[in-house]
Amino acid sequence: MSRAGNAPELVRASIDRLKSVNPRLNAFVEVFESRALADAQASAINSKRGPLAGIPIALKDNLCLAYGKTTCASNMLRNYESPYTATAVQKLIDAGAIIVGKTNMDEFAMGSSCEHSCFGPTFNPWDVSRIPGGSSGGSAAAVAAGIVPLALGSDTGGSVRQPASHCGIVGVKPTYGRVSRYGLVAYASSLDQIGTLTRTVEDAALALSVICGHDPLDTTSSQEPLPDLLGPLNTPVEGLKLAVPRQARSDANHPDVARVFDEAIATYKQLGATIVDVDLPLLDHGIAAYYIVAPAEASSNLARFDGIRYGHRAKLEQGDDLFDLYCKSRSEGFGPEVQRRIMLGTHVLSSGYYDAYYNTALKVRRRIKQDFDRVFADCHAVLMPASPSPAWKVGEKLSDPLAMYLEDIYTVTINLAGLPAMSIPAGFASVEGKQLPVGVQLVSPAFDEARMLRIARQFERATDQSARTPNV
Ligand code: GLN
Repeated sequence: MSRAGNAPELVRASIDRLKSVNPRLNAFVEVFESRALADAQASAINSKRGPLAGIPIALKDNLCLAYGKTTCASNMLRNYESPYTATAVQKLIDAGAIIVGKTNMDEFAMGSSCEHSCFGPTFNPWDVSRIPGGSSGGSAAAVAAGIVPLALGSDTGGSVRQPASHCGIVGVKPTYGRVSRYGLVAYASSLDQIGTLTRTVEDAALALSVICGHDPLDTTSSQEPLPDLLGPLNTPVEGLKLAVPRQARSDANHPDVARVFDEAIATYKQLGATIVDVDLPLLDHGIAAYYIVAPAEASSNLARFDGIRYGHRAKLEQGDDLFDLYCKSRSEGFGPEVQRRIMLGTHVLSSGYYDAYYNTALKVRRRIKQDFDRVFADCHAVLMPASPSPAWKVGEKLSDPLAMYLEDIYTVTINLAGLPAMSIPAGFASVEGKQLPVGVQLVSPAFDEARMLRIARQFERATDQSARTPNV
């Protein structure tokens, strides 16, 4: 992260950049201009130290912050003010980071395009007629456009890695339990994980060193000690074994995604890594299992937004009863994709269907985990595409939810298995005269982030990163 300047200069530059490009991107839903500048002044006056002292950052708007709003890009929470700050966010603040704003997202993190937002879509800085990916699309666009060097996102089925791939940046989803979920508005609690969006692997390692670690406020937070993430970054990958799943070479991949993937394999071979062809037979079933487990958990998590305990409350008419209050509040508060997930989730959990759908999906989930365990018995990491296609046009898949879900083929299985994974910029697709970034994905055994980051860093060193700034 650039430290060329003191905190007030860095934050001023970030806000100036935001003001100049955000009108074309719609990446931010709230900007804390005066507060961020005051925080930066205070940081400079107190000569505040810390690994992120004075660094401007952005937060996906499903991360609670004790000031401003936490909307999840939903009418349901449009006016919600969180009384507390998420643990991961507090750790960044304690490390000296300065929050410039909250970023746009798919409503309640449900989506792959950042179009399902009550604030309208975010646009890709590489081509503003295209989506930035989702659901952390605002965070990815903000980093890619050079507004902030670090943004937090959340990844339940790919929401950090896929937008990172579409925006040409680095997106890391740590192992389930590595980062506290306290203060992350829940989507699917057994899959949700906070992750980082940065321009470089080193920045990701630095940010993860700050946010990872046990938190008594999250019962699923791991006690596993965090090793040094920065030290090993420059150790060569010679002798490491990288697994390439046969199922990742699908005909459904865009030709440029297939080419960039092959080039990445060649780069790792040149670096001295051994490439091993493996089978992940359940990869193709990941989407079906994920789109049962995630909506099931979402339907339960979102039950609290009923207009009484939390969220938007509809105006009642004469004769309306309690049922009408729930029904109207939830119909007005939730957008169509969230409603679709709630209906899907309640259906698969309903008696008579629970075994056929939900329990079967859990069995598939266990098998997927076993598939990865088998591969990791012999290999250090898995290499596969992050997404089957480059960024698509705004609106292109909105009326076809299944087409949108299929975009998550390479990311959802990793959440089902609880593993760490990251997307790194690997090349470009040429589509209609535009250069669109394409990432590749590394997956590691649980709690092996240090080696995963090292493998990513060696790739970054070996490849041309000069064309990585979009002309937005
Ligand atoms: N696209 C996936 C979904 O819609 C993943 C979203 C996420 O990771 N939050 O559920």
